[in-house]
Amino acid sequence: DLKQKIEINTNDEFKKMADAFNAIIMKLDQVDRQREEFVANVSHELRTPISSMKLLSESLLHQDEEDIEVYKEFMSDISSESDRLNNIIVELLSLVDLDKEKLHLSYKITYINFLLEKIVNRMQPLSEQKNIQLILNLKEKIQIKVDAEKIQQAIINIIDNAIKYTQEYGEVIVSLYSKGRWAVIEVQDNGIGIPEESIGYIFDRFYRVDKARTRKTGGTGLGLSIAHQIITLHQGVIDIQSKVGEGSIFYIKIPQDIEL
Ligand code: ADP
Repeated sequence: DLKQKIEINTNDEFKKMADAFNAIIMKLDQVDRQREEFVANVSHELRTPISSMKLLSESLLHQDEEDIEVYKEFMSDISSESDRLNNIIVELLSLVDLDKEKLHLSYKITYINFLLEKIVNRMQPLSEQKNIQLILNLKEKIQIKVDAEKIQQAIINIIDNAIKYTQEYGEVIVSLYSKGRWAVIEVQDNGIGIPEESIGYIFDRFYRVDKARTRKTGGTGLGLSIAHQIITLHQGVIDIQSKVGEGSIFYIKIPQDIEL
């Protein structure tokens, strides 16, 4: 009887170990797959502008007497494609840096009010181009420990989207307040909104709701994953409320009592 019990126990232990082992293998597989998928996505994203540039330049090369206007148009397209390529590379590098920097952000006590004033001033010209009213609504003075430069990048990416995905004469309101342990930076737009089924994916690298539209607006599909990573490094979260055709609200929530 005792012998049987021991055998069962050993079997149990063995099963536990086997399960743990399998779980590790599965995790490694998953990491491998994610890396492969990422590399495939990067190649695809880089190849698209390169192919366009190649096509545009080839077709100019094969014309002997091209109208100067057509020539200029093609050259301007080539120039935008190379800007696009540059944006993708800059954003990819910033993602890689964030991966590396996980442990050493340079935290400093920062007045989020001043930071938001600076950001909104910087983004005024961009919103004016689309006749969008960019409004700053500071409800409280809040100072918290953050890596100001990184947080600024995250906030800029989210406001930039609010402007990008809102029609002319729209409105973007940036507010600051505290709620429980969080400092909340709210970015509200009355733009195109995000379909419910897409909300779960918009922080994924290279994900775009509408590929065609974003290509025109010059998006890389990386802005939100960068913002998400920065906020997560600050032990914060980003919540979203959105309705197609009505607009979106992004809530950037950063703990005021961050443990370092
Ligand atoms: P992109 O460079 O394409 O803007 P992001 O990572 O910044 O990439 O955003 C991912 C996608 O989420 C966008 O392509 C867009 O479809 C959607 N999105 C982000 N912000 C908004 C917003 N304020 N309103 C509507 N859609 C948005």
